[in-house]
Amino acid sequence: MITINENYLKLQASYLFSDIARRVNAFQKENPDKNIIRLGIGDVTHGLPPACIAAFHKAVDEMAVDATFRGYGPEQGYSFLREAIALHDFQSRGADIHADEIFVSDGAKCDTGNIQELFAQNIQVAIPDPVYPVYLDTNVMAGRTGNFVEGRYQGLVYLDSTRDNNFVPDLPREKVDLIYLCFPNNPTGSTISREGLKRWVDYARENRALILFDAAYEAFIRDESLPKSIFEIEGAREVAIEFRSLSKNAGFTGTRCAYTVVPKECRAFDTQGTPHLIHPLWNRRHCTKFNGVSYPVQRAAEAVYSDIGKAQITELVDGYMTNAALIRTAMTELGYDCVGGDNAPYIWIDAKGGSWEFFDMLLNKTGVVCTPGAGFGRCGEGYIRLSAFNSRANVERAMQRIKKSLA
Ligand SMILES: *Cc1c(COP(=O)(O)O)cnc(C)c1O
Repeated sequence: MITINENYLKLQASYLFSDIARRVNAFQKENPDKNIIRLGIGDVTHGLPPACIAAFHKAVDEMAVDATFRGYGPEQGYSFLREAIALHDFQSRGADIHADEIFVSDGAKCDTGNIQELFAQNIQVAIPDPVYPVYLDTNVMAGRTGNFVEGRYQGLVYLDSTRDNNFVPDLPREKVDLIYLCFPNNPTGSTISREGLKRWVDYARENRALILFDAAYEAFIRDESLPKSIFEIEGAREVAIEFRSLSKNAGFTGTRCAYTVVPKECRAFDTQGTPHLIHPLWNRRHCTKFNGVSYPVQRAAEAVYSDIGKAQITELVDGYMTNAALIRTAMTELGYDCVGGDNAPYIWIDAKGGSWEFFDMLLNKTGVVCTPGAGFGRCGEGYIRLSAFNSRANVERAMQRIKKSLA
């Protein structure tokens, strides 16, 4: 008899985006002339930078000719890309990371989801609330939780991000082994200071824990005092793995390229307490289950690190951040308490009531779609997320409507 992995039965169906779509469709049906503006999406909207497109085209042409054709490449990524990443994203900022510590992949979603399979079943996992759901669901699938009771999986430590802690979770009171952190944060747009991140690194060192640091939004940091990488923090090399993606800074959400940084000293322990290096384990996993990102995509990614590519990325990110400032200013002027939008493309807004009530009110009064915070966890109830990933014209139009209707 073929039996299933019953952990999958514990998963809560995610109704968030289907619920949003259903309500938006119903509204459109009743108001066929009303133009809907979607400020709920977590996907970019502008085309790829021209430097990436040029490199992409050139690499596709190389694939057509025997002399320059590439078959299977190194699973960890071509060294032209790994070296560019190590130099421009880390060494240039004083973080001691080398090309052979970079694992190129087809997404930070897959990497943040897959990494947990290196660790034992009975570890204590700490996950933020509200959260990017991938960290949570992949641990449920792996059987590290109990059932879903009163809005939470049993057996996990939830790290509450609330107004009280400025949406940066406090250190857990209990001992935890695996810690997920994401800064700048999705969905709250909050950031962590150097001192704040140092406290987590120190906690991990003292408790023989490991931090999984999702830095998918580092490019949106404007405040130069904030860390872009956990490896800017002293002592992090032994206790942290970092996830990065070209999805949000360079528009690669449909093109697919990301990477994971596993320092050579990073360790986990066996049941005897003997340390083992994680780098060879992740390398083994990566080579066994993954066959590399396509060559043209890696060439397009490499172009992000050229001078012209960097300038184009800056322009792209600046454009989204101008949108973020417009949204945050408008909502603040209307008397809403906001975080994010200053170093992140998301603005997290106190709805002064239920998340879904605000969603319905906003849609019905203005035709603007937001994301109800309740969809990201129990602590998200009472908040909504607005996204800066849209055209300037749409953001300006949306804010004019909101100012007119909610004033
Ligand atoms: C968008 C996003 C990513 C990037 O995922 P990709 O698979 O690389 O597109 C990673 N983490 C968070 C929190 C995100 O919002």
